[in-house]
Amino acid sequence: MEIVSGVHQIRLPFPQGMSGYTNVYVIEGSNGNILIDSGWDDSEVIWAFREGLREERLKFQDINWIVITHIHPDHYGLASKLKELCGAEVAVHRTEVGLINSRYKDFDGLLKDMGDMLSSNGVPQAELTELKQASLWMKQFVSPDLPDIMLDDGDRISNGSFGFEVLRTPGHSPGHICLYEARKRWLFSGDHVLFNVTPHVGFHPQSGDNPLKDYIDSLIMVDRLGVNFVFPGHGPVFNSLKLRAAEIFYHHEARKEAILKVLNDGLKTAYQVAAEIPWKLEQGGVAFGDLEAWDRRLAVPETIAHLKLLSSEGKVGEIDKDGVSLYLAKE
Ligand SMILES: [Zn+2]
Ligand SMILES: [Zn+2]
Repeated sequence: MEIVSGVHQIRLPFPQGMSGYTNVYVIEGSNGNILIDSGWDDSEVIWAFREGLREERLKFQDINWIVITHIHPDHYGLASKLKELCGAEVAVHRTEVGLINSRYKDFDGLLKDMGDMLSSNGVPQAELTELKQASLWMKQFVSPDLPDIMLDDGDRISNGSFGFEVLRTPGHSPGHICLYEARKRWLFSGDHVLFNVTPHVGFHPQSGDNPLKDYIDSLIMVDRLGVNFVFPGHGPVFNSLKLRAAEIFYHHEARKEAILKVLNDGLKTAYQVAAEIPWKLEQGGVAFGDLEAWDRRLAVPETIAHLKLLSSEGKVGEIDKDGVSLYLAKE
């Protein structure tokens, strides 16, 4: 679909019947086309991309650059296959490039760190292996080749017709980028801002100490740009970034309140906090114990991220007891 003149959106399905799709964008230019993001590496997804190009009357060989917003499988997995098909160069932020090897090739060290992190946050031994390994299945859908171009915050990418500034927006992933077309005030937001989903922000061995603070700061930064149109990595395009950002701020404030309430009963691990607050609020709320392993694996790091933010705001204290982190409300 040509959303506005020169900007084509192609929706790529998730593989193996998973619900959802990734929006990728082809930006036409007098010096060549830019593709923003790829999908999962799966034959059905390649087919969907080829069909999408055909419907838009675009050609593989006209794509000169593939810019990846972050290295999650649904955005980066197919990049190197599309690079071969297009004869394009792949560009990824420097911080994300540094994660490719440990996430997708030589991941034993990261797996151990993840296990240690979950364990020190109170995940019981019986659940530890399941949660630690909950994302391993995704690796089959990623071709983890290193990119041709390393991007830095503030870099500019032009195709002769449109010019983009690379904005580093850490939080959802440490080297996540948005692409900003200043003349048009368009933001290609990857997973940083979505219309109907609050992006996952979780504490991770590679996330830095306070990923939710990074995320909120990144959201404030894009909110101040005066964007008139957001082209996200999933879901509908939208024009109300200010409103959407306000909803996301409110969501995190409400989560922090819920966590503080739970901590009023006494010292708790992040796991114990996660087990006492509702999840999947958009579905009316699901108890932690009823979540699938993958969702529990997301829930515990999300809780830690909120606790770290509350701690940096002086509202929560953290103590170490025999290698396990315990949190308490300070007010
Ligand atoms: Zn993502
Ligand atoms: Zn995504």
